[in-house]
Formats: sequence, C-alpha cells, structure tokens
Amino acid sequence: MNILKKRSASLIGAMVVLSIGALFLFIRRSSNIQFLKAPDVNLKKVYGTENVVPFLVLGSGPASLAAALYGARTRVRTVVLKGNQPGGQLTGTSYIENWPAIRKIRGVEVVKDFEEQAASFGAVMVSDSAKSVDLSSWPYKVVTEEGKELSALSLFIGTGATPKKLGVPGESEYWGNGVTTCAICDAPYHKGDTVIVIGGGDSAVEEALELSAYASEVRMLVRKDVLKASPTMSEHLAKCSNVKVVFNTSLLKINGLDGHVDSVDVINSETKKTEHWPEVKGVFLAIGHQPNTWLFKDQIKISSTGYIKLQGRRQLTSKPGVFAAGDVADYRYKQAGVAAGDGIKAGLDAMWWLSEIGYNTDIEEKLETSFFDPQLDNKFEITQVKSVGELNEIFKEVKNKLIILDFYTPFCPSCMHMMPVIQWVGTKLAKKVLFLKVDASIAFDLVKKYQVPQVPHFIVFKHGEIIDRSNEVLDREGLYSFAKSYLK
Ligand code: NDP
Repeated sequence: MNILKKRSASLIGAMVVLSIGALFLFIRRSSNIQFLKAPDVNLKKVYGTENVVPFLVLGSGPASLAAALYGARTRVRTVVLKGNQPGGQLTGTSYIENWPAIRKIRGVEVVKDFEEQAASFGAVMVSDSAKSVDLSSWPYKVVTEEGKELSALSLFIGTGATPKKLGVPGESEYWGNGVTTCAICDAPYHKGDTVIVIGGGDSAVEEALELSAYASEVRMLVRKDVLKASPTMSEHLAKCSNVKVVFNTSLLKINGLDGHVDSVDVINSETKKTEHWPEVKGVFLAIGHQPNTWLFKDQIKISSTGYIKLQGRRQLTSKPGVFAAGDVADYRYKQAGVAAGDGIKAGLDAMWWLSEIGYNTDIEEKLETSFFDPQLDNKFEITQVKSVGELNEIFKEVKNKLIILDFYTPFCPSCMHMMPVIQWVGTKLAKKVLFLKVDASIAFDLVKKYQVPQVPHFIVFKHGEIIDRSNEVLDREGLYSFAKSYLK
C-alpha cells in the first residue's frame, strides 16, 4: 500500500506518516547497537534502481513470518518470497502441542494464521523462491525462480532445513513410491500395511503416531539402544499398541516390486545379524535435517555442519544487513516457537539496521516508484475442483485444451512445493493447458473415481479421456516439459 502518497492527499495520510516517523524514531532509539556497515551502503545509489525491496524475507516458516510481521508492523515495505515449501516444515506436522498459549493446533493452521497476520500489516506474500543470491555488493541482489531481479536493502534468511536421506540402496529408486519423509501425506495409503519409521527422535515418533492410525503395524528402527525423543512424545508412543520400537537396528536395503516398496533388509548392530522383512510396504525417514544454506555458500559464515553462524545472541550474520533465524541457523533448539522468537529478534535487528543506514520516510517516498510489486504480474490462479460433477462441467466447457488435474493435500510438503511450479507452468501454457487442483483430503469422489494412489499425483486429460498420470515431484523445467510433451 502506498502510504506516503496518502500523506499529501489527506489529513489521515499526514497522521499515518507521523506515526511512521514515530516508529522510525522508536527503532532508532531502541537500537543503540553498532552494526557492521557495508562499505558501499549509500541509499542515494538506490534511486532509479528497479524492484527495490527494503526488507526481503526468504522463506515462510515461523521464523520468516515472525520477521515479516515485525518488518511490516514497522511500516517498512516487506516482501516474503515464500519458497519451495510454503509454510516450511510445520505444514508437514500434524498437531503441535507446544506452541505457546495454544494447547493443540494443526501446523498448517499456525502457518495460515501467521501469514494472514503478517499480510494484514502489509507484508507482501509472493509464491516464488530465491534462485540465486549475490551478497558481494549492496543493495543485495536476489534472482527468483520466476526470473525477477530484486534489490534488497536488508535481507532475512529463513530458508529452513531439508529432511536428510539415508543413502541406502533402493531409497532413490522407490522415493515417492513407498519411501518418503512425510507420514502425514502418505499414511492413508498404507491402510493395513506393515511400515517402518527410521529414527528415534521427536519427528520419528510423530511419523509413527500418524501412521499408527492406518497401518496394522509400525516398527520404529532406532540405531542405538535409546530413544532421543522427549519424554512427552515417548509417552504418546507407549500408548500406541501397534507401534513397536526396534532398538540397535538399521535399514540396509529397500527392495521393490512393480515400482513400489515390497520388502526391506535390516541389520542388528549388536548381533550383526541381518534380516529380510517381506511384510514391510512403506519406509518413512525421520533422521534429522540439513540446513538450506547452499544459496549463501562462500558469501556469509557457515559452520562446518552447514548452519549460518550468528553473532552472539543476536540474529546478525557475517554480512551487514543480512539476518537469519530458524532451522537454517539454529543447530540446538529447532523448535517452531524458538524460530518465531528468533524471527522477531531478526525483524527488529533488520529494522534497526535500516534506521542506522538512514532509511526513513523521506527515502521511502523517493523509492516507492522503484518498489517491487508482484501484484502487477502475478494474476494466474489455479481453479480448485471439488467433485466429479464439477469436473464433468469443465470437460464440457473446455474442449480445446489439455487438462491436468493436480491431486494434493494441504499437509503434503511436496504438494505445496509444486504449487508455485504449477502456477508458473500454468501461466506459461495458459493458452493450451488448463491446470486444475483437487484437494484429495476433501474431494473423495474424485480420488475414488480416478484411483489416486498418493499425492502429489497428476492426471492428464485430452478430450475428457485420461492419457497419462505421474506421481513425480517436478521442478519448473520438469513440469513444463511434461505438459508440453502432450501438446505435440
Ligand atoms: P533429531 O536429530 O532429534 O533425531 C534424529 C533421529 O534420527 C535420532 O534418533 C538419530 O539417531 C536418528 N538418525 C540420524 N541419522 C541416522 C541414520 N543415518 N540412521 C539411523 N538413524 C539416524 O531430529 P528430529 O527431526 O526428530 O527433531 C529435530 C528437532 O525438532 C528436535 O529438537 C525435536 O525435539 C524437534 N521436534 C519437536 C517436535 C515436537 O515437539 N512435537 C516434533 C518434531 C521435532 P541418534 O540418536 O543415534 O543420532
């Protein structure tokens, strides 16, 4: 919103600007901190630059949304690049019981409320990701997956962490076909099966609990003789009669049949005995996470284990004006609540830094025509189909286009990862392809009719007839080629 234009237009505008001024005064007074100053920081050199973002937030987990909330509440133009997994890891969690002041809430709900709260103060949410980041000169350059080149005056890194993989034979081959890191997405596809969960931490317990509602037996393979999970989570586990914890045991190999997991081989580290388990039809990994720092490699200080190094108890990285919080920087606590708290600290640090380099309402007014505005070109919305009847109506109306149905659930990180990808490909091929999305957790008649085995799942229709299907999680180029291959 263009607050500064309103100022000249009305008395209300004048009051708004006064309050902004007061806020800047507040941040200046509250700061009292010596920041690293980039040698080339000079706000005048930003005039005339395109796509300027005063506070650019990378990621949309709790750390990022908290930082964005504080940026936006200070009335500093804040843009959030939501990233490849909008909402972050919380979207793959079932219920959270340790979010302060709320007894029990779904991870997706926390993220939704958080995003709406930040947006209500003016944070601009963009379904795009950073593809490259250049911190060699200021303002910092961020190129997005959609090809936008942004100039960030201050930058927040909340890119989170990615679940680790084991690297055992069969893992890559059957990934998405019985091997996954997301029980909440795939548990319903294992009704009556025997499945294994690898790991002994809180994530592994969460996965096992989720699976216990569907599978006939869940075996948790723990490589040591103790659980790492917290006492509360272990108590939840003990109440589940169909979950069995198998200590001192590691997965050796995943075997498949017809492209899907069909059995596994395991080894006991004490006896060194191997066993073949032909009854296992699903493998769920929960062995920790790797911080997503590759975009910043050799540009800011990163620890040997891959976490962004911060200064003391602050959220300052080794680059002036670049801040970080959440799982990308937190090697110890890794809690959503801590990420949110640290995100708040980072948001405040960023506001103080902007104030320190002289960013104020006058500068904001001079820069406002240069601000990045995603609304200008982000108009494509994928239509949601809720029933077989609705889809049949669309088949009747849309005769000359390929139709691709994307089955997803809001709890599936891979599905959420694909949403911006679909939006991008859908826009590019809008004249020839119609993408439609189906929430598989609601539209049961469509799931049943088209025998959807798991999510994400794509079905390609030509003249109302199925011509292909895919379970693959594709990037932009992959989905673009996939869709185009049917246009020949
Ligand atoms: P953790 O690092 O806590 O646990 C990872 C588990 O995987 C450990 O048992 C570890 O074993 C095992 N592991 C690691 N590598 C391998 C391997 N190669 N083969 C077999 N097993 C392996 O990660 P989590 O993701 O579980 O949790 C991360 C953080 O998030 C924690 O702080 C946790 O408390 C928090 N969390 C909290 C939740 C909640 O409160 N509801 C839910 C989920 C997570 P070993 O012990 O031998 O290293």
